[in-house]
Amino acid sequence: MAEFTMELNEDQRGVRDWIHGFAAEVMRPAAAEWDEREEFPWPVVQEAARIGLYSLDFYAQQFFDPTGLGVPMAMEELFWGDAGLGLAISGTGLAAIGVLTNGTEEQIGTWLPQMYGDADDVKIAAFCSSEPDAGSDVSAMRTRAVYDEAKDEWVLNGTKTWATNGGIANVHVVVAVVDPGLGARGHASFIVPPGTPGLSQGQKFKKHGIRASHTAEVVLDGVRLPGHCLLGGKDKLDERLARARERARTGGSRTHNAAMATFEASRPTVGAQAVGIARAAYEVALDYAQTRVQFGRPIIDNQGVAFQLADMRTRIDAARLLVWRASWMATAGKPFTSAEGSMSKLFAGETAKAVTAQAMQILGGNGYTREYPVERMHRDAAIYTIFEGTSEIQRLVIARTISDVPIR
Ligand SMILES: Cc1cc2nc3c(=O)[nH]c(=O)nc-3n(C[C@H](O)[C@H](O)[C@H](O)COP(=O)(O)OP(=O)(O)OC[C@H]3O[C@@H](n4cnc5c(N)ncnc54)[C@H](O)[C@@H]3O)c2cc1C
Repeated sequence: MAEFTMELNEDQRGVRDWIHGFAAEVMRPAAAEWDEREEFPWPVVQEAARIGLYSLDFYAQQFFDPTGLGVPMAMEELFWGDAGLGLAISGTGLAAIGVLTNGTEEQIGTWLPQMYGDADDVKIAAFCSSEPDAGSDVSAMRTRAVYDEAKDEWVLNGTKTWATNGGIANVHVVVAVVDPGLGARGHASFIVPPGTPGLSQGQKFKKHGIRASHTAEVVLDGVRLPGHCLLGGKDKLDERLARARERARTGGSRTHNAAMATFEASRPTVGAQAVGIARAAYEVALDYAQTRVQFGRPIIDNQGVAFQLADMRTRIDAARLLVWRASWMATAGKPFTSAEGSMSKLFAGETAKAVTAQAMQILGGNGYTREYPVERMHRDAAIYTIFEGTSEIQRLVIARTISDVPIR
């Protein structure tokens, strides 16, 4: 019985082709305009919601695909369409995963629908962990959550930065320090419901790429949250903190923390986005190399160009295989004993950056202009070695995992 297959099944192929159609017909024609406007592309997200592509149901279906390939396959097609628009459509997913991985069933049922809204009233969500002094080093986080026992309320103060959808989201998921003595183990995640007083948008960033995606600071000034907004609930938090204090006292091994769990679950997904951008740039370059004539023959007739395309394609396929492996492992409940999730994000992110640069080179002067999309794809790809853990941090995670040495 040959159970192993590297082919998508019929349902998956159907979903992939459907997303591809949206990417080709709706996203691609709109991509340059929204890149220039640098605004959140509500009409595109609303159109995605209208056909059911931006919806909790659709993401839940892909998330629970038993092969694990539903989400990466969807991401690759969306980001093949355009990365800025793709992130506008998929950015809510990071906050949703934060709730799915740390929330109670009741919290999942209450908040996930409010993150997506519906086709007539589209909503988005933001996941806020990074701070001005706490990017790669999450243990330097300062945003504080203090429990007011008399009122069963949490009071949050601090400034978050680089939050995708920050300040324009309906629901914000905020990571904050509940026990400063425990470093990254003393963090907890909170839901900030729509319209909560004290939460405001700070600076909106003007970016190099993915400019249709909204990125901003989120200021939390005396934000009061009911006790039920603590993800996972107070009892679970108290147990986790007690274990962390005990380990700190006895020098025991590292514990899991909520923010890191969120990042780990989302890394292959981010890798798949990078694969989509790389594939898009490679296809433009392949086509251009076959049609652009210099010295009386198409430039692809030169090994110097053809071999670049061969390398680009090989890297893209290798990146996809790493992404699919990690996604399959996550769904199958396999332990990431070699940090395979981080591997997939590292390799795919570096591939997107390198392949889009090569594509620009193959297009020559045209590649450098906004007449062709590879210039935008190259700008978009650059974020994939930075966010969701920089390439250096992925290497650190992989190196520590394979060696069990606390490499710095
Ligand atoms: C467009 C965009 C969207 C984002 N969206 C979100 C979001 O939705 N939510 C959220 O919480 N965050 C978000 N981020 C934040 C993102 O995850 C951080 O930018 C990222 O983690 C890096 O942190 P930093 O920018 O502070 O860089 P730093 O941590 O200051 O790193 C600077 C450089 O030093 C290197 N470095 C740092 N420490 C080490 C080390 N130990 N060893 C080797 N090298 C090291 C890094 O690799 C990097 O090259 C987003 C960022 C951007 C730009």
